[in-house]
Amino acid sequence: MKRAVSSFEGSRQGLYIGGKWLEPKSGEHLPSYDPTTGRQWYEFADAGADDVNAAVRAAQDAFVDPKWRRMTQTDRGKLVRRLAELFLENADTLAEIETRDNGKLIKEMRAQMRALPDSYTYFSGMADKLQGDTVPVNKLDMLNFTMREPIGVVGMITPWNSPLMMLTGTLAPCLAIGNTVVIKPSEHTSASTLALMELIEEAGFPPGVVNVVTGAGRTAGEALVRHPGLAKVVFTGSTETGRKIAANAAANLVPCQMELGGKSPHVVFADVDIERAVNGVVAGVFAAAGQTCVAGSRCFVERSIYDRFVEALVERTNRIAIGHPMSETSDIGPLALSEQVKKVKTYVASGLAEGARVAAGGKQPRREDLADGWYFEPTVLTDASNDMGFMRDELFGPVVGVMPFSSESEMIALANDTRYGLASGIWTKDIDRAMRFARAVDAGTVWINTYRSASFMSPMGGFKESGYGRRGGFDVMREFSRVKNVVLDYSGAMQDPFVIRLR
Ligand code: NAD
Repeated sequence: MKRAVSSFEGSRQGLYIGGKWLEPKSGEHLPSYDPTTGRQWYEFADAGADDVNAAVRAAQDAFVDPKWRRMTQTDRGKLVRRLAELFLENADTLAEIETRDNGKLIKEMRAQMRALPDSYTYFSGMADKLQGDTVPVNKLDMLNFTMREPIGVVGMITPWNSPLMMLTGTLAPCLAIGNTVVIKPSEHTSASTLALMELIEEAGFPPGVVNVVTGAGRTAGEALVRHPGLAKVVFTGSTETGRKIAANAAANLVPCQMELGGKSPHVVFADVDIERAVNGVVAGVFAAAGQTCVAGSRCFVERSIYDRFVEALVERTNRIAIGHPMSETSDIGPLALSEQVKKVKTYVASGLAEGARVAAGGKQPRREDLADGWYFEPTVLTDASNDMGFMRDELFGPVVGVMPFSSESEMIALANDTRYGLASGIWTKDIDRAMRFARAVDAGTVWINTYRSASFMSPMGGFKESGYGRRGGFDVMREFSRVKNVVLDYSGAMQDPFVIRLR
């Protein structure tokens, strides 16, 4: 793969439209910053409405082009599998690009990139399983059946945390089903999506099947969402942006899939092995420096073990190694954006004013080697309550609020006291209690004695303001295909032209 980290360094990147690399018609570019130094490392195109129109047109043309539309299902599946092979061959290069661009740990990115090909392979199997049904009909000599077909051009808008992972869950099924795609990656992390286009080309996808328009959300993103040529919008990002996107897409009656933010409850009962539960809570909220949508950022602990649990959590948190994301010994790296550091600082300060206490972390690390980067210490805030700002809003940083509960009913009320409904976790040895929690909690995913154990085979998604639609699992085939009813009369009889043939 030619597009290694070095090919981005100091470069100016174009748009990928209709199988060609193009300069933006807007003439505009934006800087991308290295989160470990805060310095610019390359520039990417800031697409305008004309660029977005060109990308959607290329995707529309590719959708009806016989090279794609009349490709056999078996051949389409093979193309997606070829992409999986190329992805695996280049996984370590893609991991380096991702780490350089968004500051996530190299060890995490390597594991993620080496796992994503399995997802492409899984979804490639959808290509030859797009089948309809024969439907009973109360008419003799008539055949009534359904066909499943691709929907058209899908617009995909991705966030800055794990851009390729977020993309894969919808790009892979869309390609297997025969749709075409226009991707608008985050303006903070466009590099890995651009690099992926080289593999799309090498795999042999016809030009225009996948297009990338980079740029700012309010220009490139909004132009894409407002485009009437889309069949669907897939959005992964914050609830606030999701609200705007759903409204803009609705103007053209374009449906959306919304993967939004979370403020997930993580519950610990007194019957657990404390060390294991602490490990789970740490993994749930501090992995990726808290920049995961499923972060278990509200931790509820049974009162009888509260003090012991907090002590163990603080001890473990203080041992987390903050460091450069390329170092194999770092546990957490920087936040991806400087604004994120400001946001986290502000919420921690307001939490203290509201009565919370810092039990661990709470500030930017004072270390010379980290001075220029956007680092924040993993932070435990005790004496928290659900009405404090940092417990209500998604911070997307390494902060957990901890509070005690006395009864199961109180715990359920606390867990569900949020506008979000993405994920949840519970630690207990009592399986009946765990299942009661699974039933009662308002969250799209429930983890019992584990956290962040995700799979592309599971339907992931949220309730309430965490969004709608599901990523992963075979059901997504329905999200990215449409059903058509066909009625065939083979009686040869003349029909009364003024009476509809019902029943
Ligand atoms: P964001 O909402 O700021 O931006 C996401 C994307 O939307 C970016 O590409 C941005 O350019 C684009 N955008 C912004 N304004 C737009 C507009 N008006 N029209 C069209 N596009 C627009 O989110 P972020 O800060 O990049 O990512 C973090 C958020 O993503 C968190 O809230 C996190 O919980 C969420 N997230 C959710 C999931 C999930 O599966 N539920 C997964 C990952 C991240």
